[in-house]
Amino acid sequence: MVEVKNLVKTYGKINAVSDISFTANVGEVLGFLGPNGAGKSTTMNIIAGYLSATSGTVTIDGFDIVDDAMEAKKRIGYLPEMPPVYQDMTVIKYLEFMYGLKKVTLPKEEHLAEIMKLCGIDVIKNRLIRNLSKGFKQRVGVAQALVGNPPVIILDEPTVGLDPKQIIDMRALIKNLGKKHAVIFSSHVLSEVSAVCDRIVVISQGKIVADEATDKIAYMKSDEMRLLLTVEGNSATVISALSSVDGVTKVRRSDRQNDNVCDYNVEYKKDVDVRAGVFRALSKAGCPILQMKDAGLSLEEMFLKLTAPTYSDKGGKR
Ligand code: ADP
Ligand code: MG
Repeated sequence: MVEVKNLVKTYGKINAVSDISFTANVGEVLGFLGPNGAGKSTTMNIIAGYLSATSGTVTIDGFDIVDDAMEAKKRIGYLPEMPPVYQDMTVIKYLEFMYGLKKVTLPKEEHLAEIMKLCGIDVIKNRLIRNLSKGFKQRVGVAQALVGNPPVIILDEPTVGLDPKQIIDMRALIKNLGKKHAVIFSSHVLSEVSAVCDRIVVISQGKIVADEATDKIAYMKSDEMRLLLTVEGNSATVISALSSVDGVTKVRRSDRQNDNVCDYNVEYKKDVDVRAGVFRALSKAGCPILQMKDAGLSLEEMFLKLTAPTYSDKGGKR
């Protein structure tokens, strides 16, 4: 388990990370999501013991990354944003090198074969790293993080620069790793994090602005909720009926399915359940509801809300 408590990192006057706390457990993929410059890499470098914090603590299975660095680091596999590359080694030689460096005691041949299989690089094990595609290089990077079978895997933007097929493969690999490890995976791409992760920690300007199960995040901290409806009947009639319901703040037709059936996007005030009112109003108007779904805000909308820049009273960001 990874426990991050009150992490702060300042560079001169810049607060790259200000008071970040969260935990990550084995069996979960934690998405570390934030726009560029949010402080993701800084945090990950500190967790992995590559960078010292200005204040705060990181423990891995109870071992402090500073005070018990040896024990803590043994339990972490790390793929940094810019991994050191050993262009002139073959894949297998590189993994053997990492095996030696990490002083792993698991049976070497078997262990490395298992990792290469899991990462889908067994077929290229005798090729020079310099000749590999970006996708394969990135998988080799994940493979070296797995050497020694550490319980915690930290991957800093592992899908950057990959083509769509490679991205899909990498996501599947990460998801798979989450079964047996605590995986912390950073990205600035919302759709990717929501597709892969069980939990999302959203970071913005060095601060955590959300820490929620993926399916819950769209419902948080928002004053507006949303119903998605499919209704049969004249659009103007439907919109007028919906608008008359207590608590409804905004009605928009989002799509036309055919001449007489449309989808509607109904925003309403949080803490008001408008569903019964919607049913009655549409029933009175003679417009059957074909589908009704409570949807919260879209993840994109939530992400933009959460990470919108705030300006201090001294002017300027942060
Ligand atoms: P992310 O990985 O989310 O894109 P980073 O952790 O790389 O963000 O950066 C967070 C902030 O810290 C940024 O404003 C960045 O410019 C600043 N920063 C990162 N590294 C340094 C450094 N070595 N010196 C000064 N500022 C830095
Ligand atoms: Mg980064």
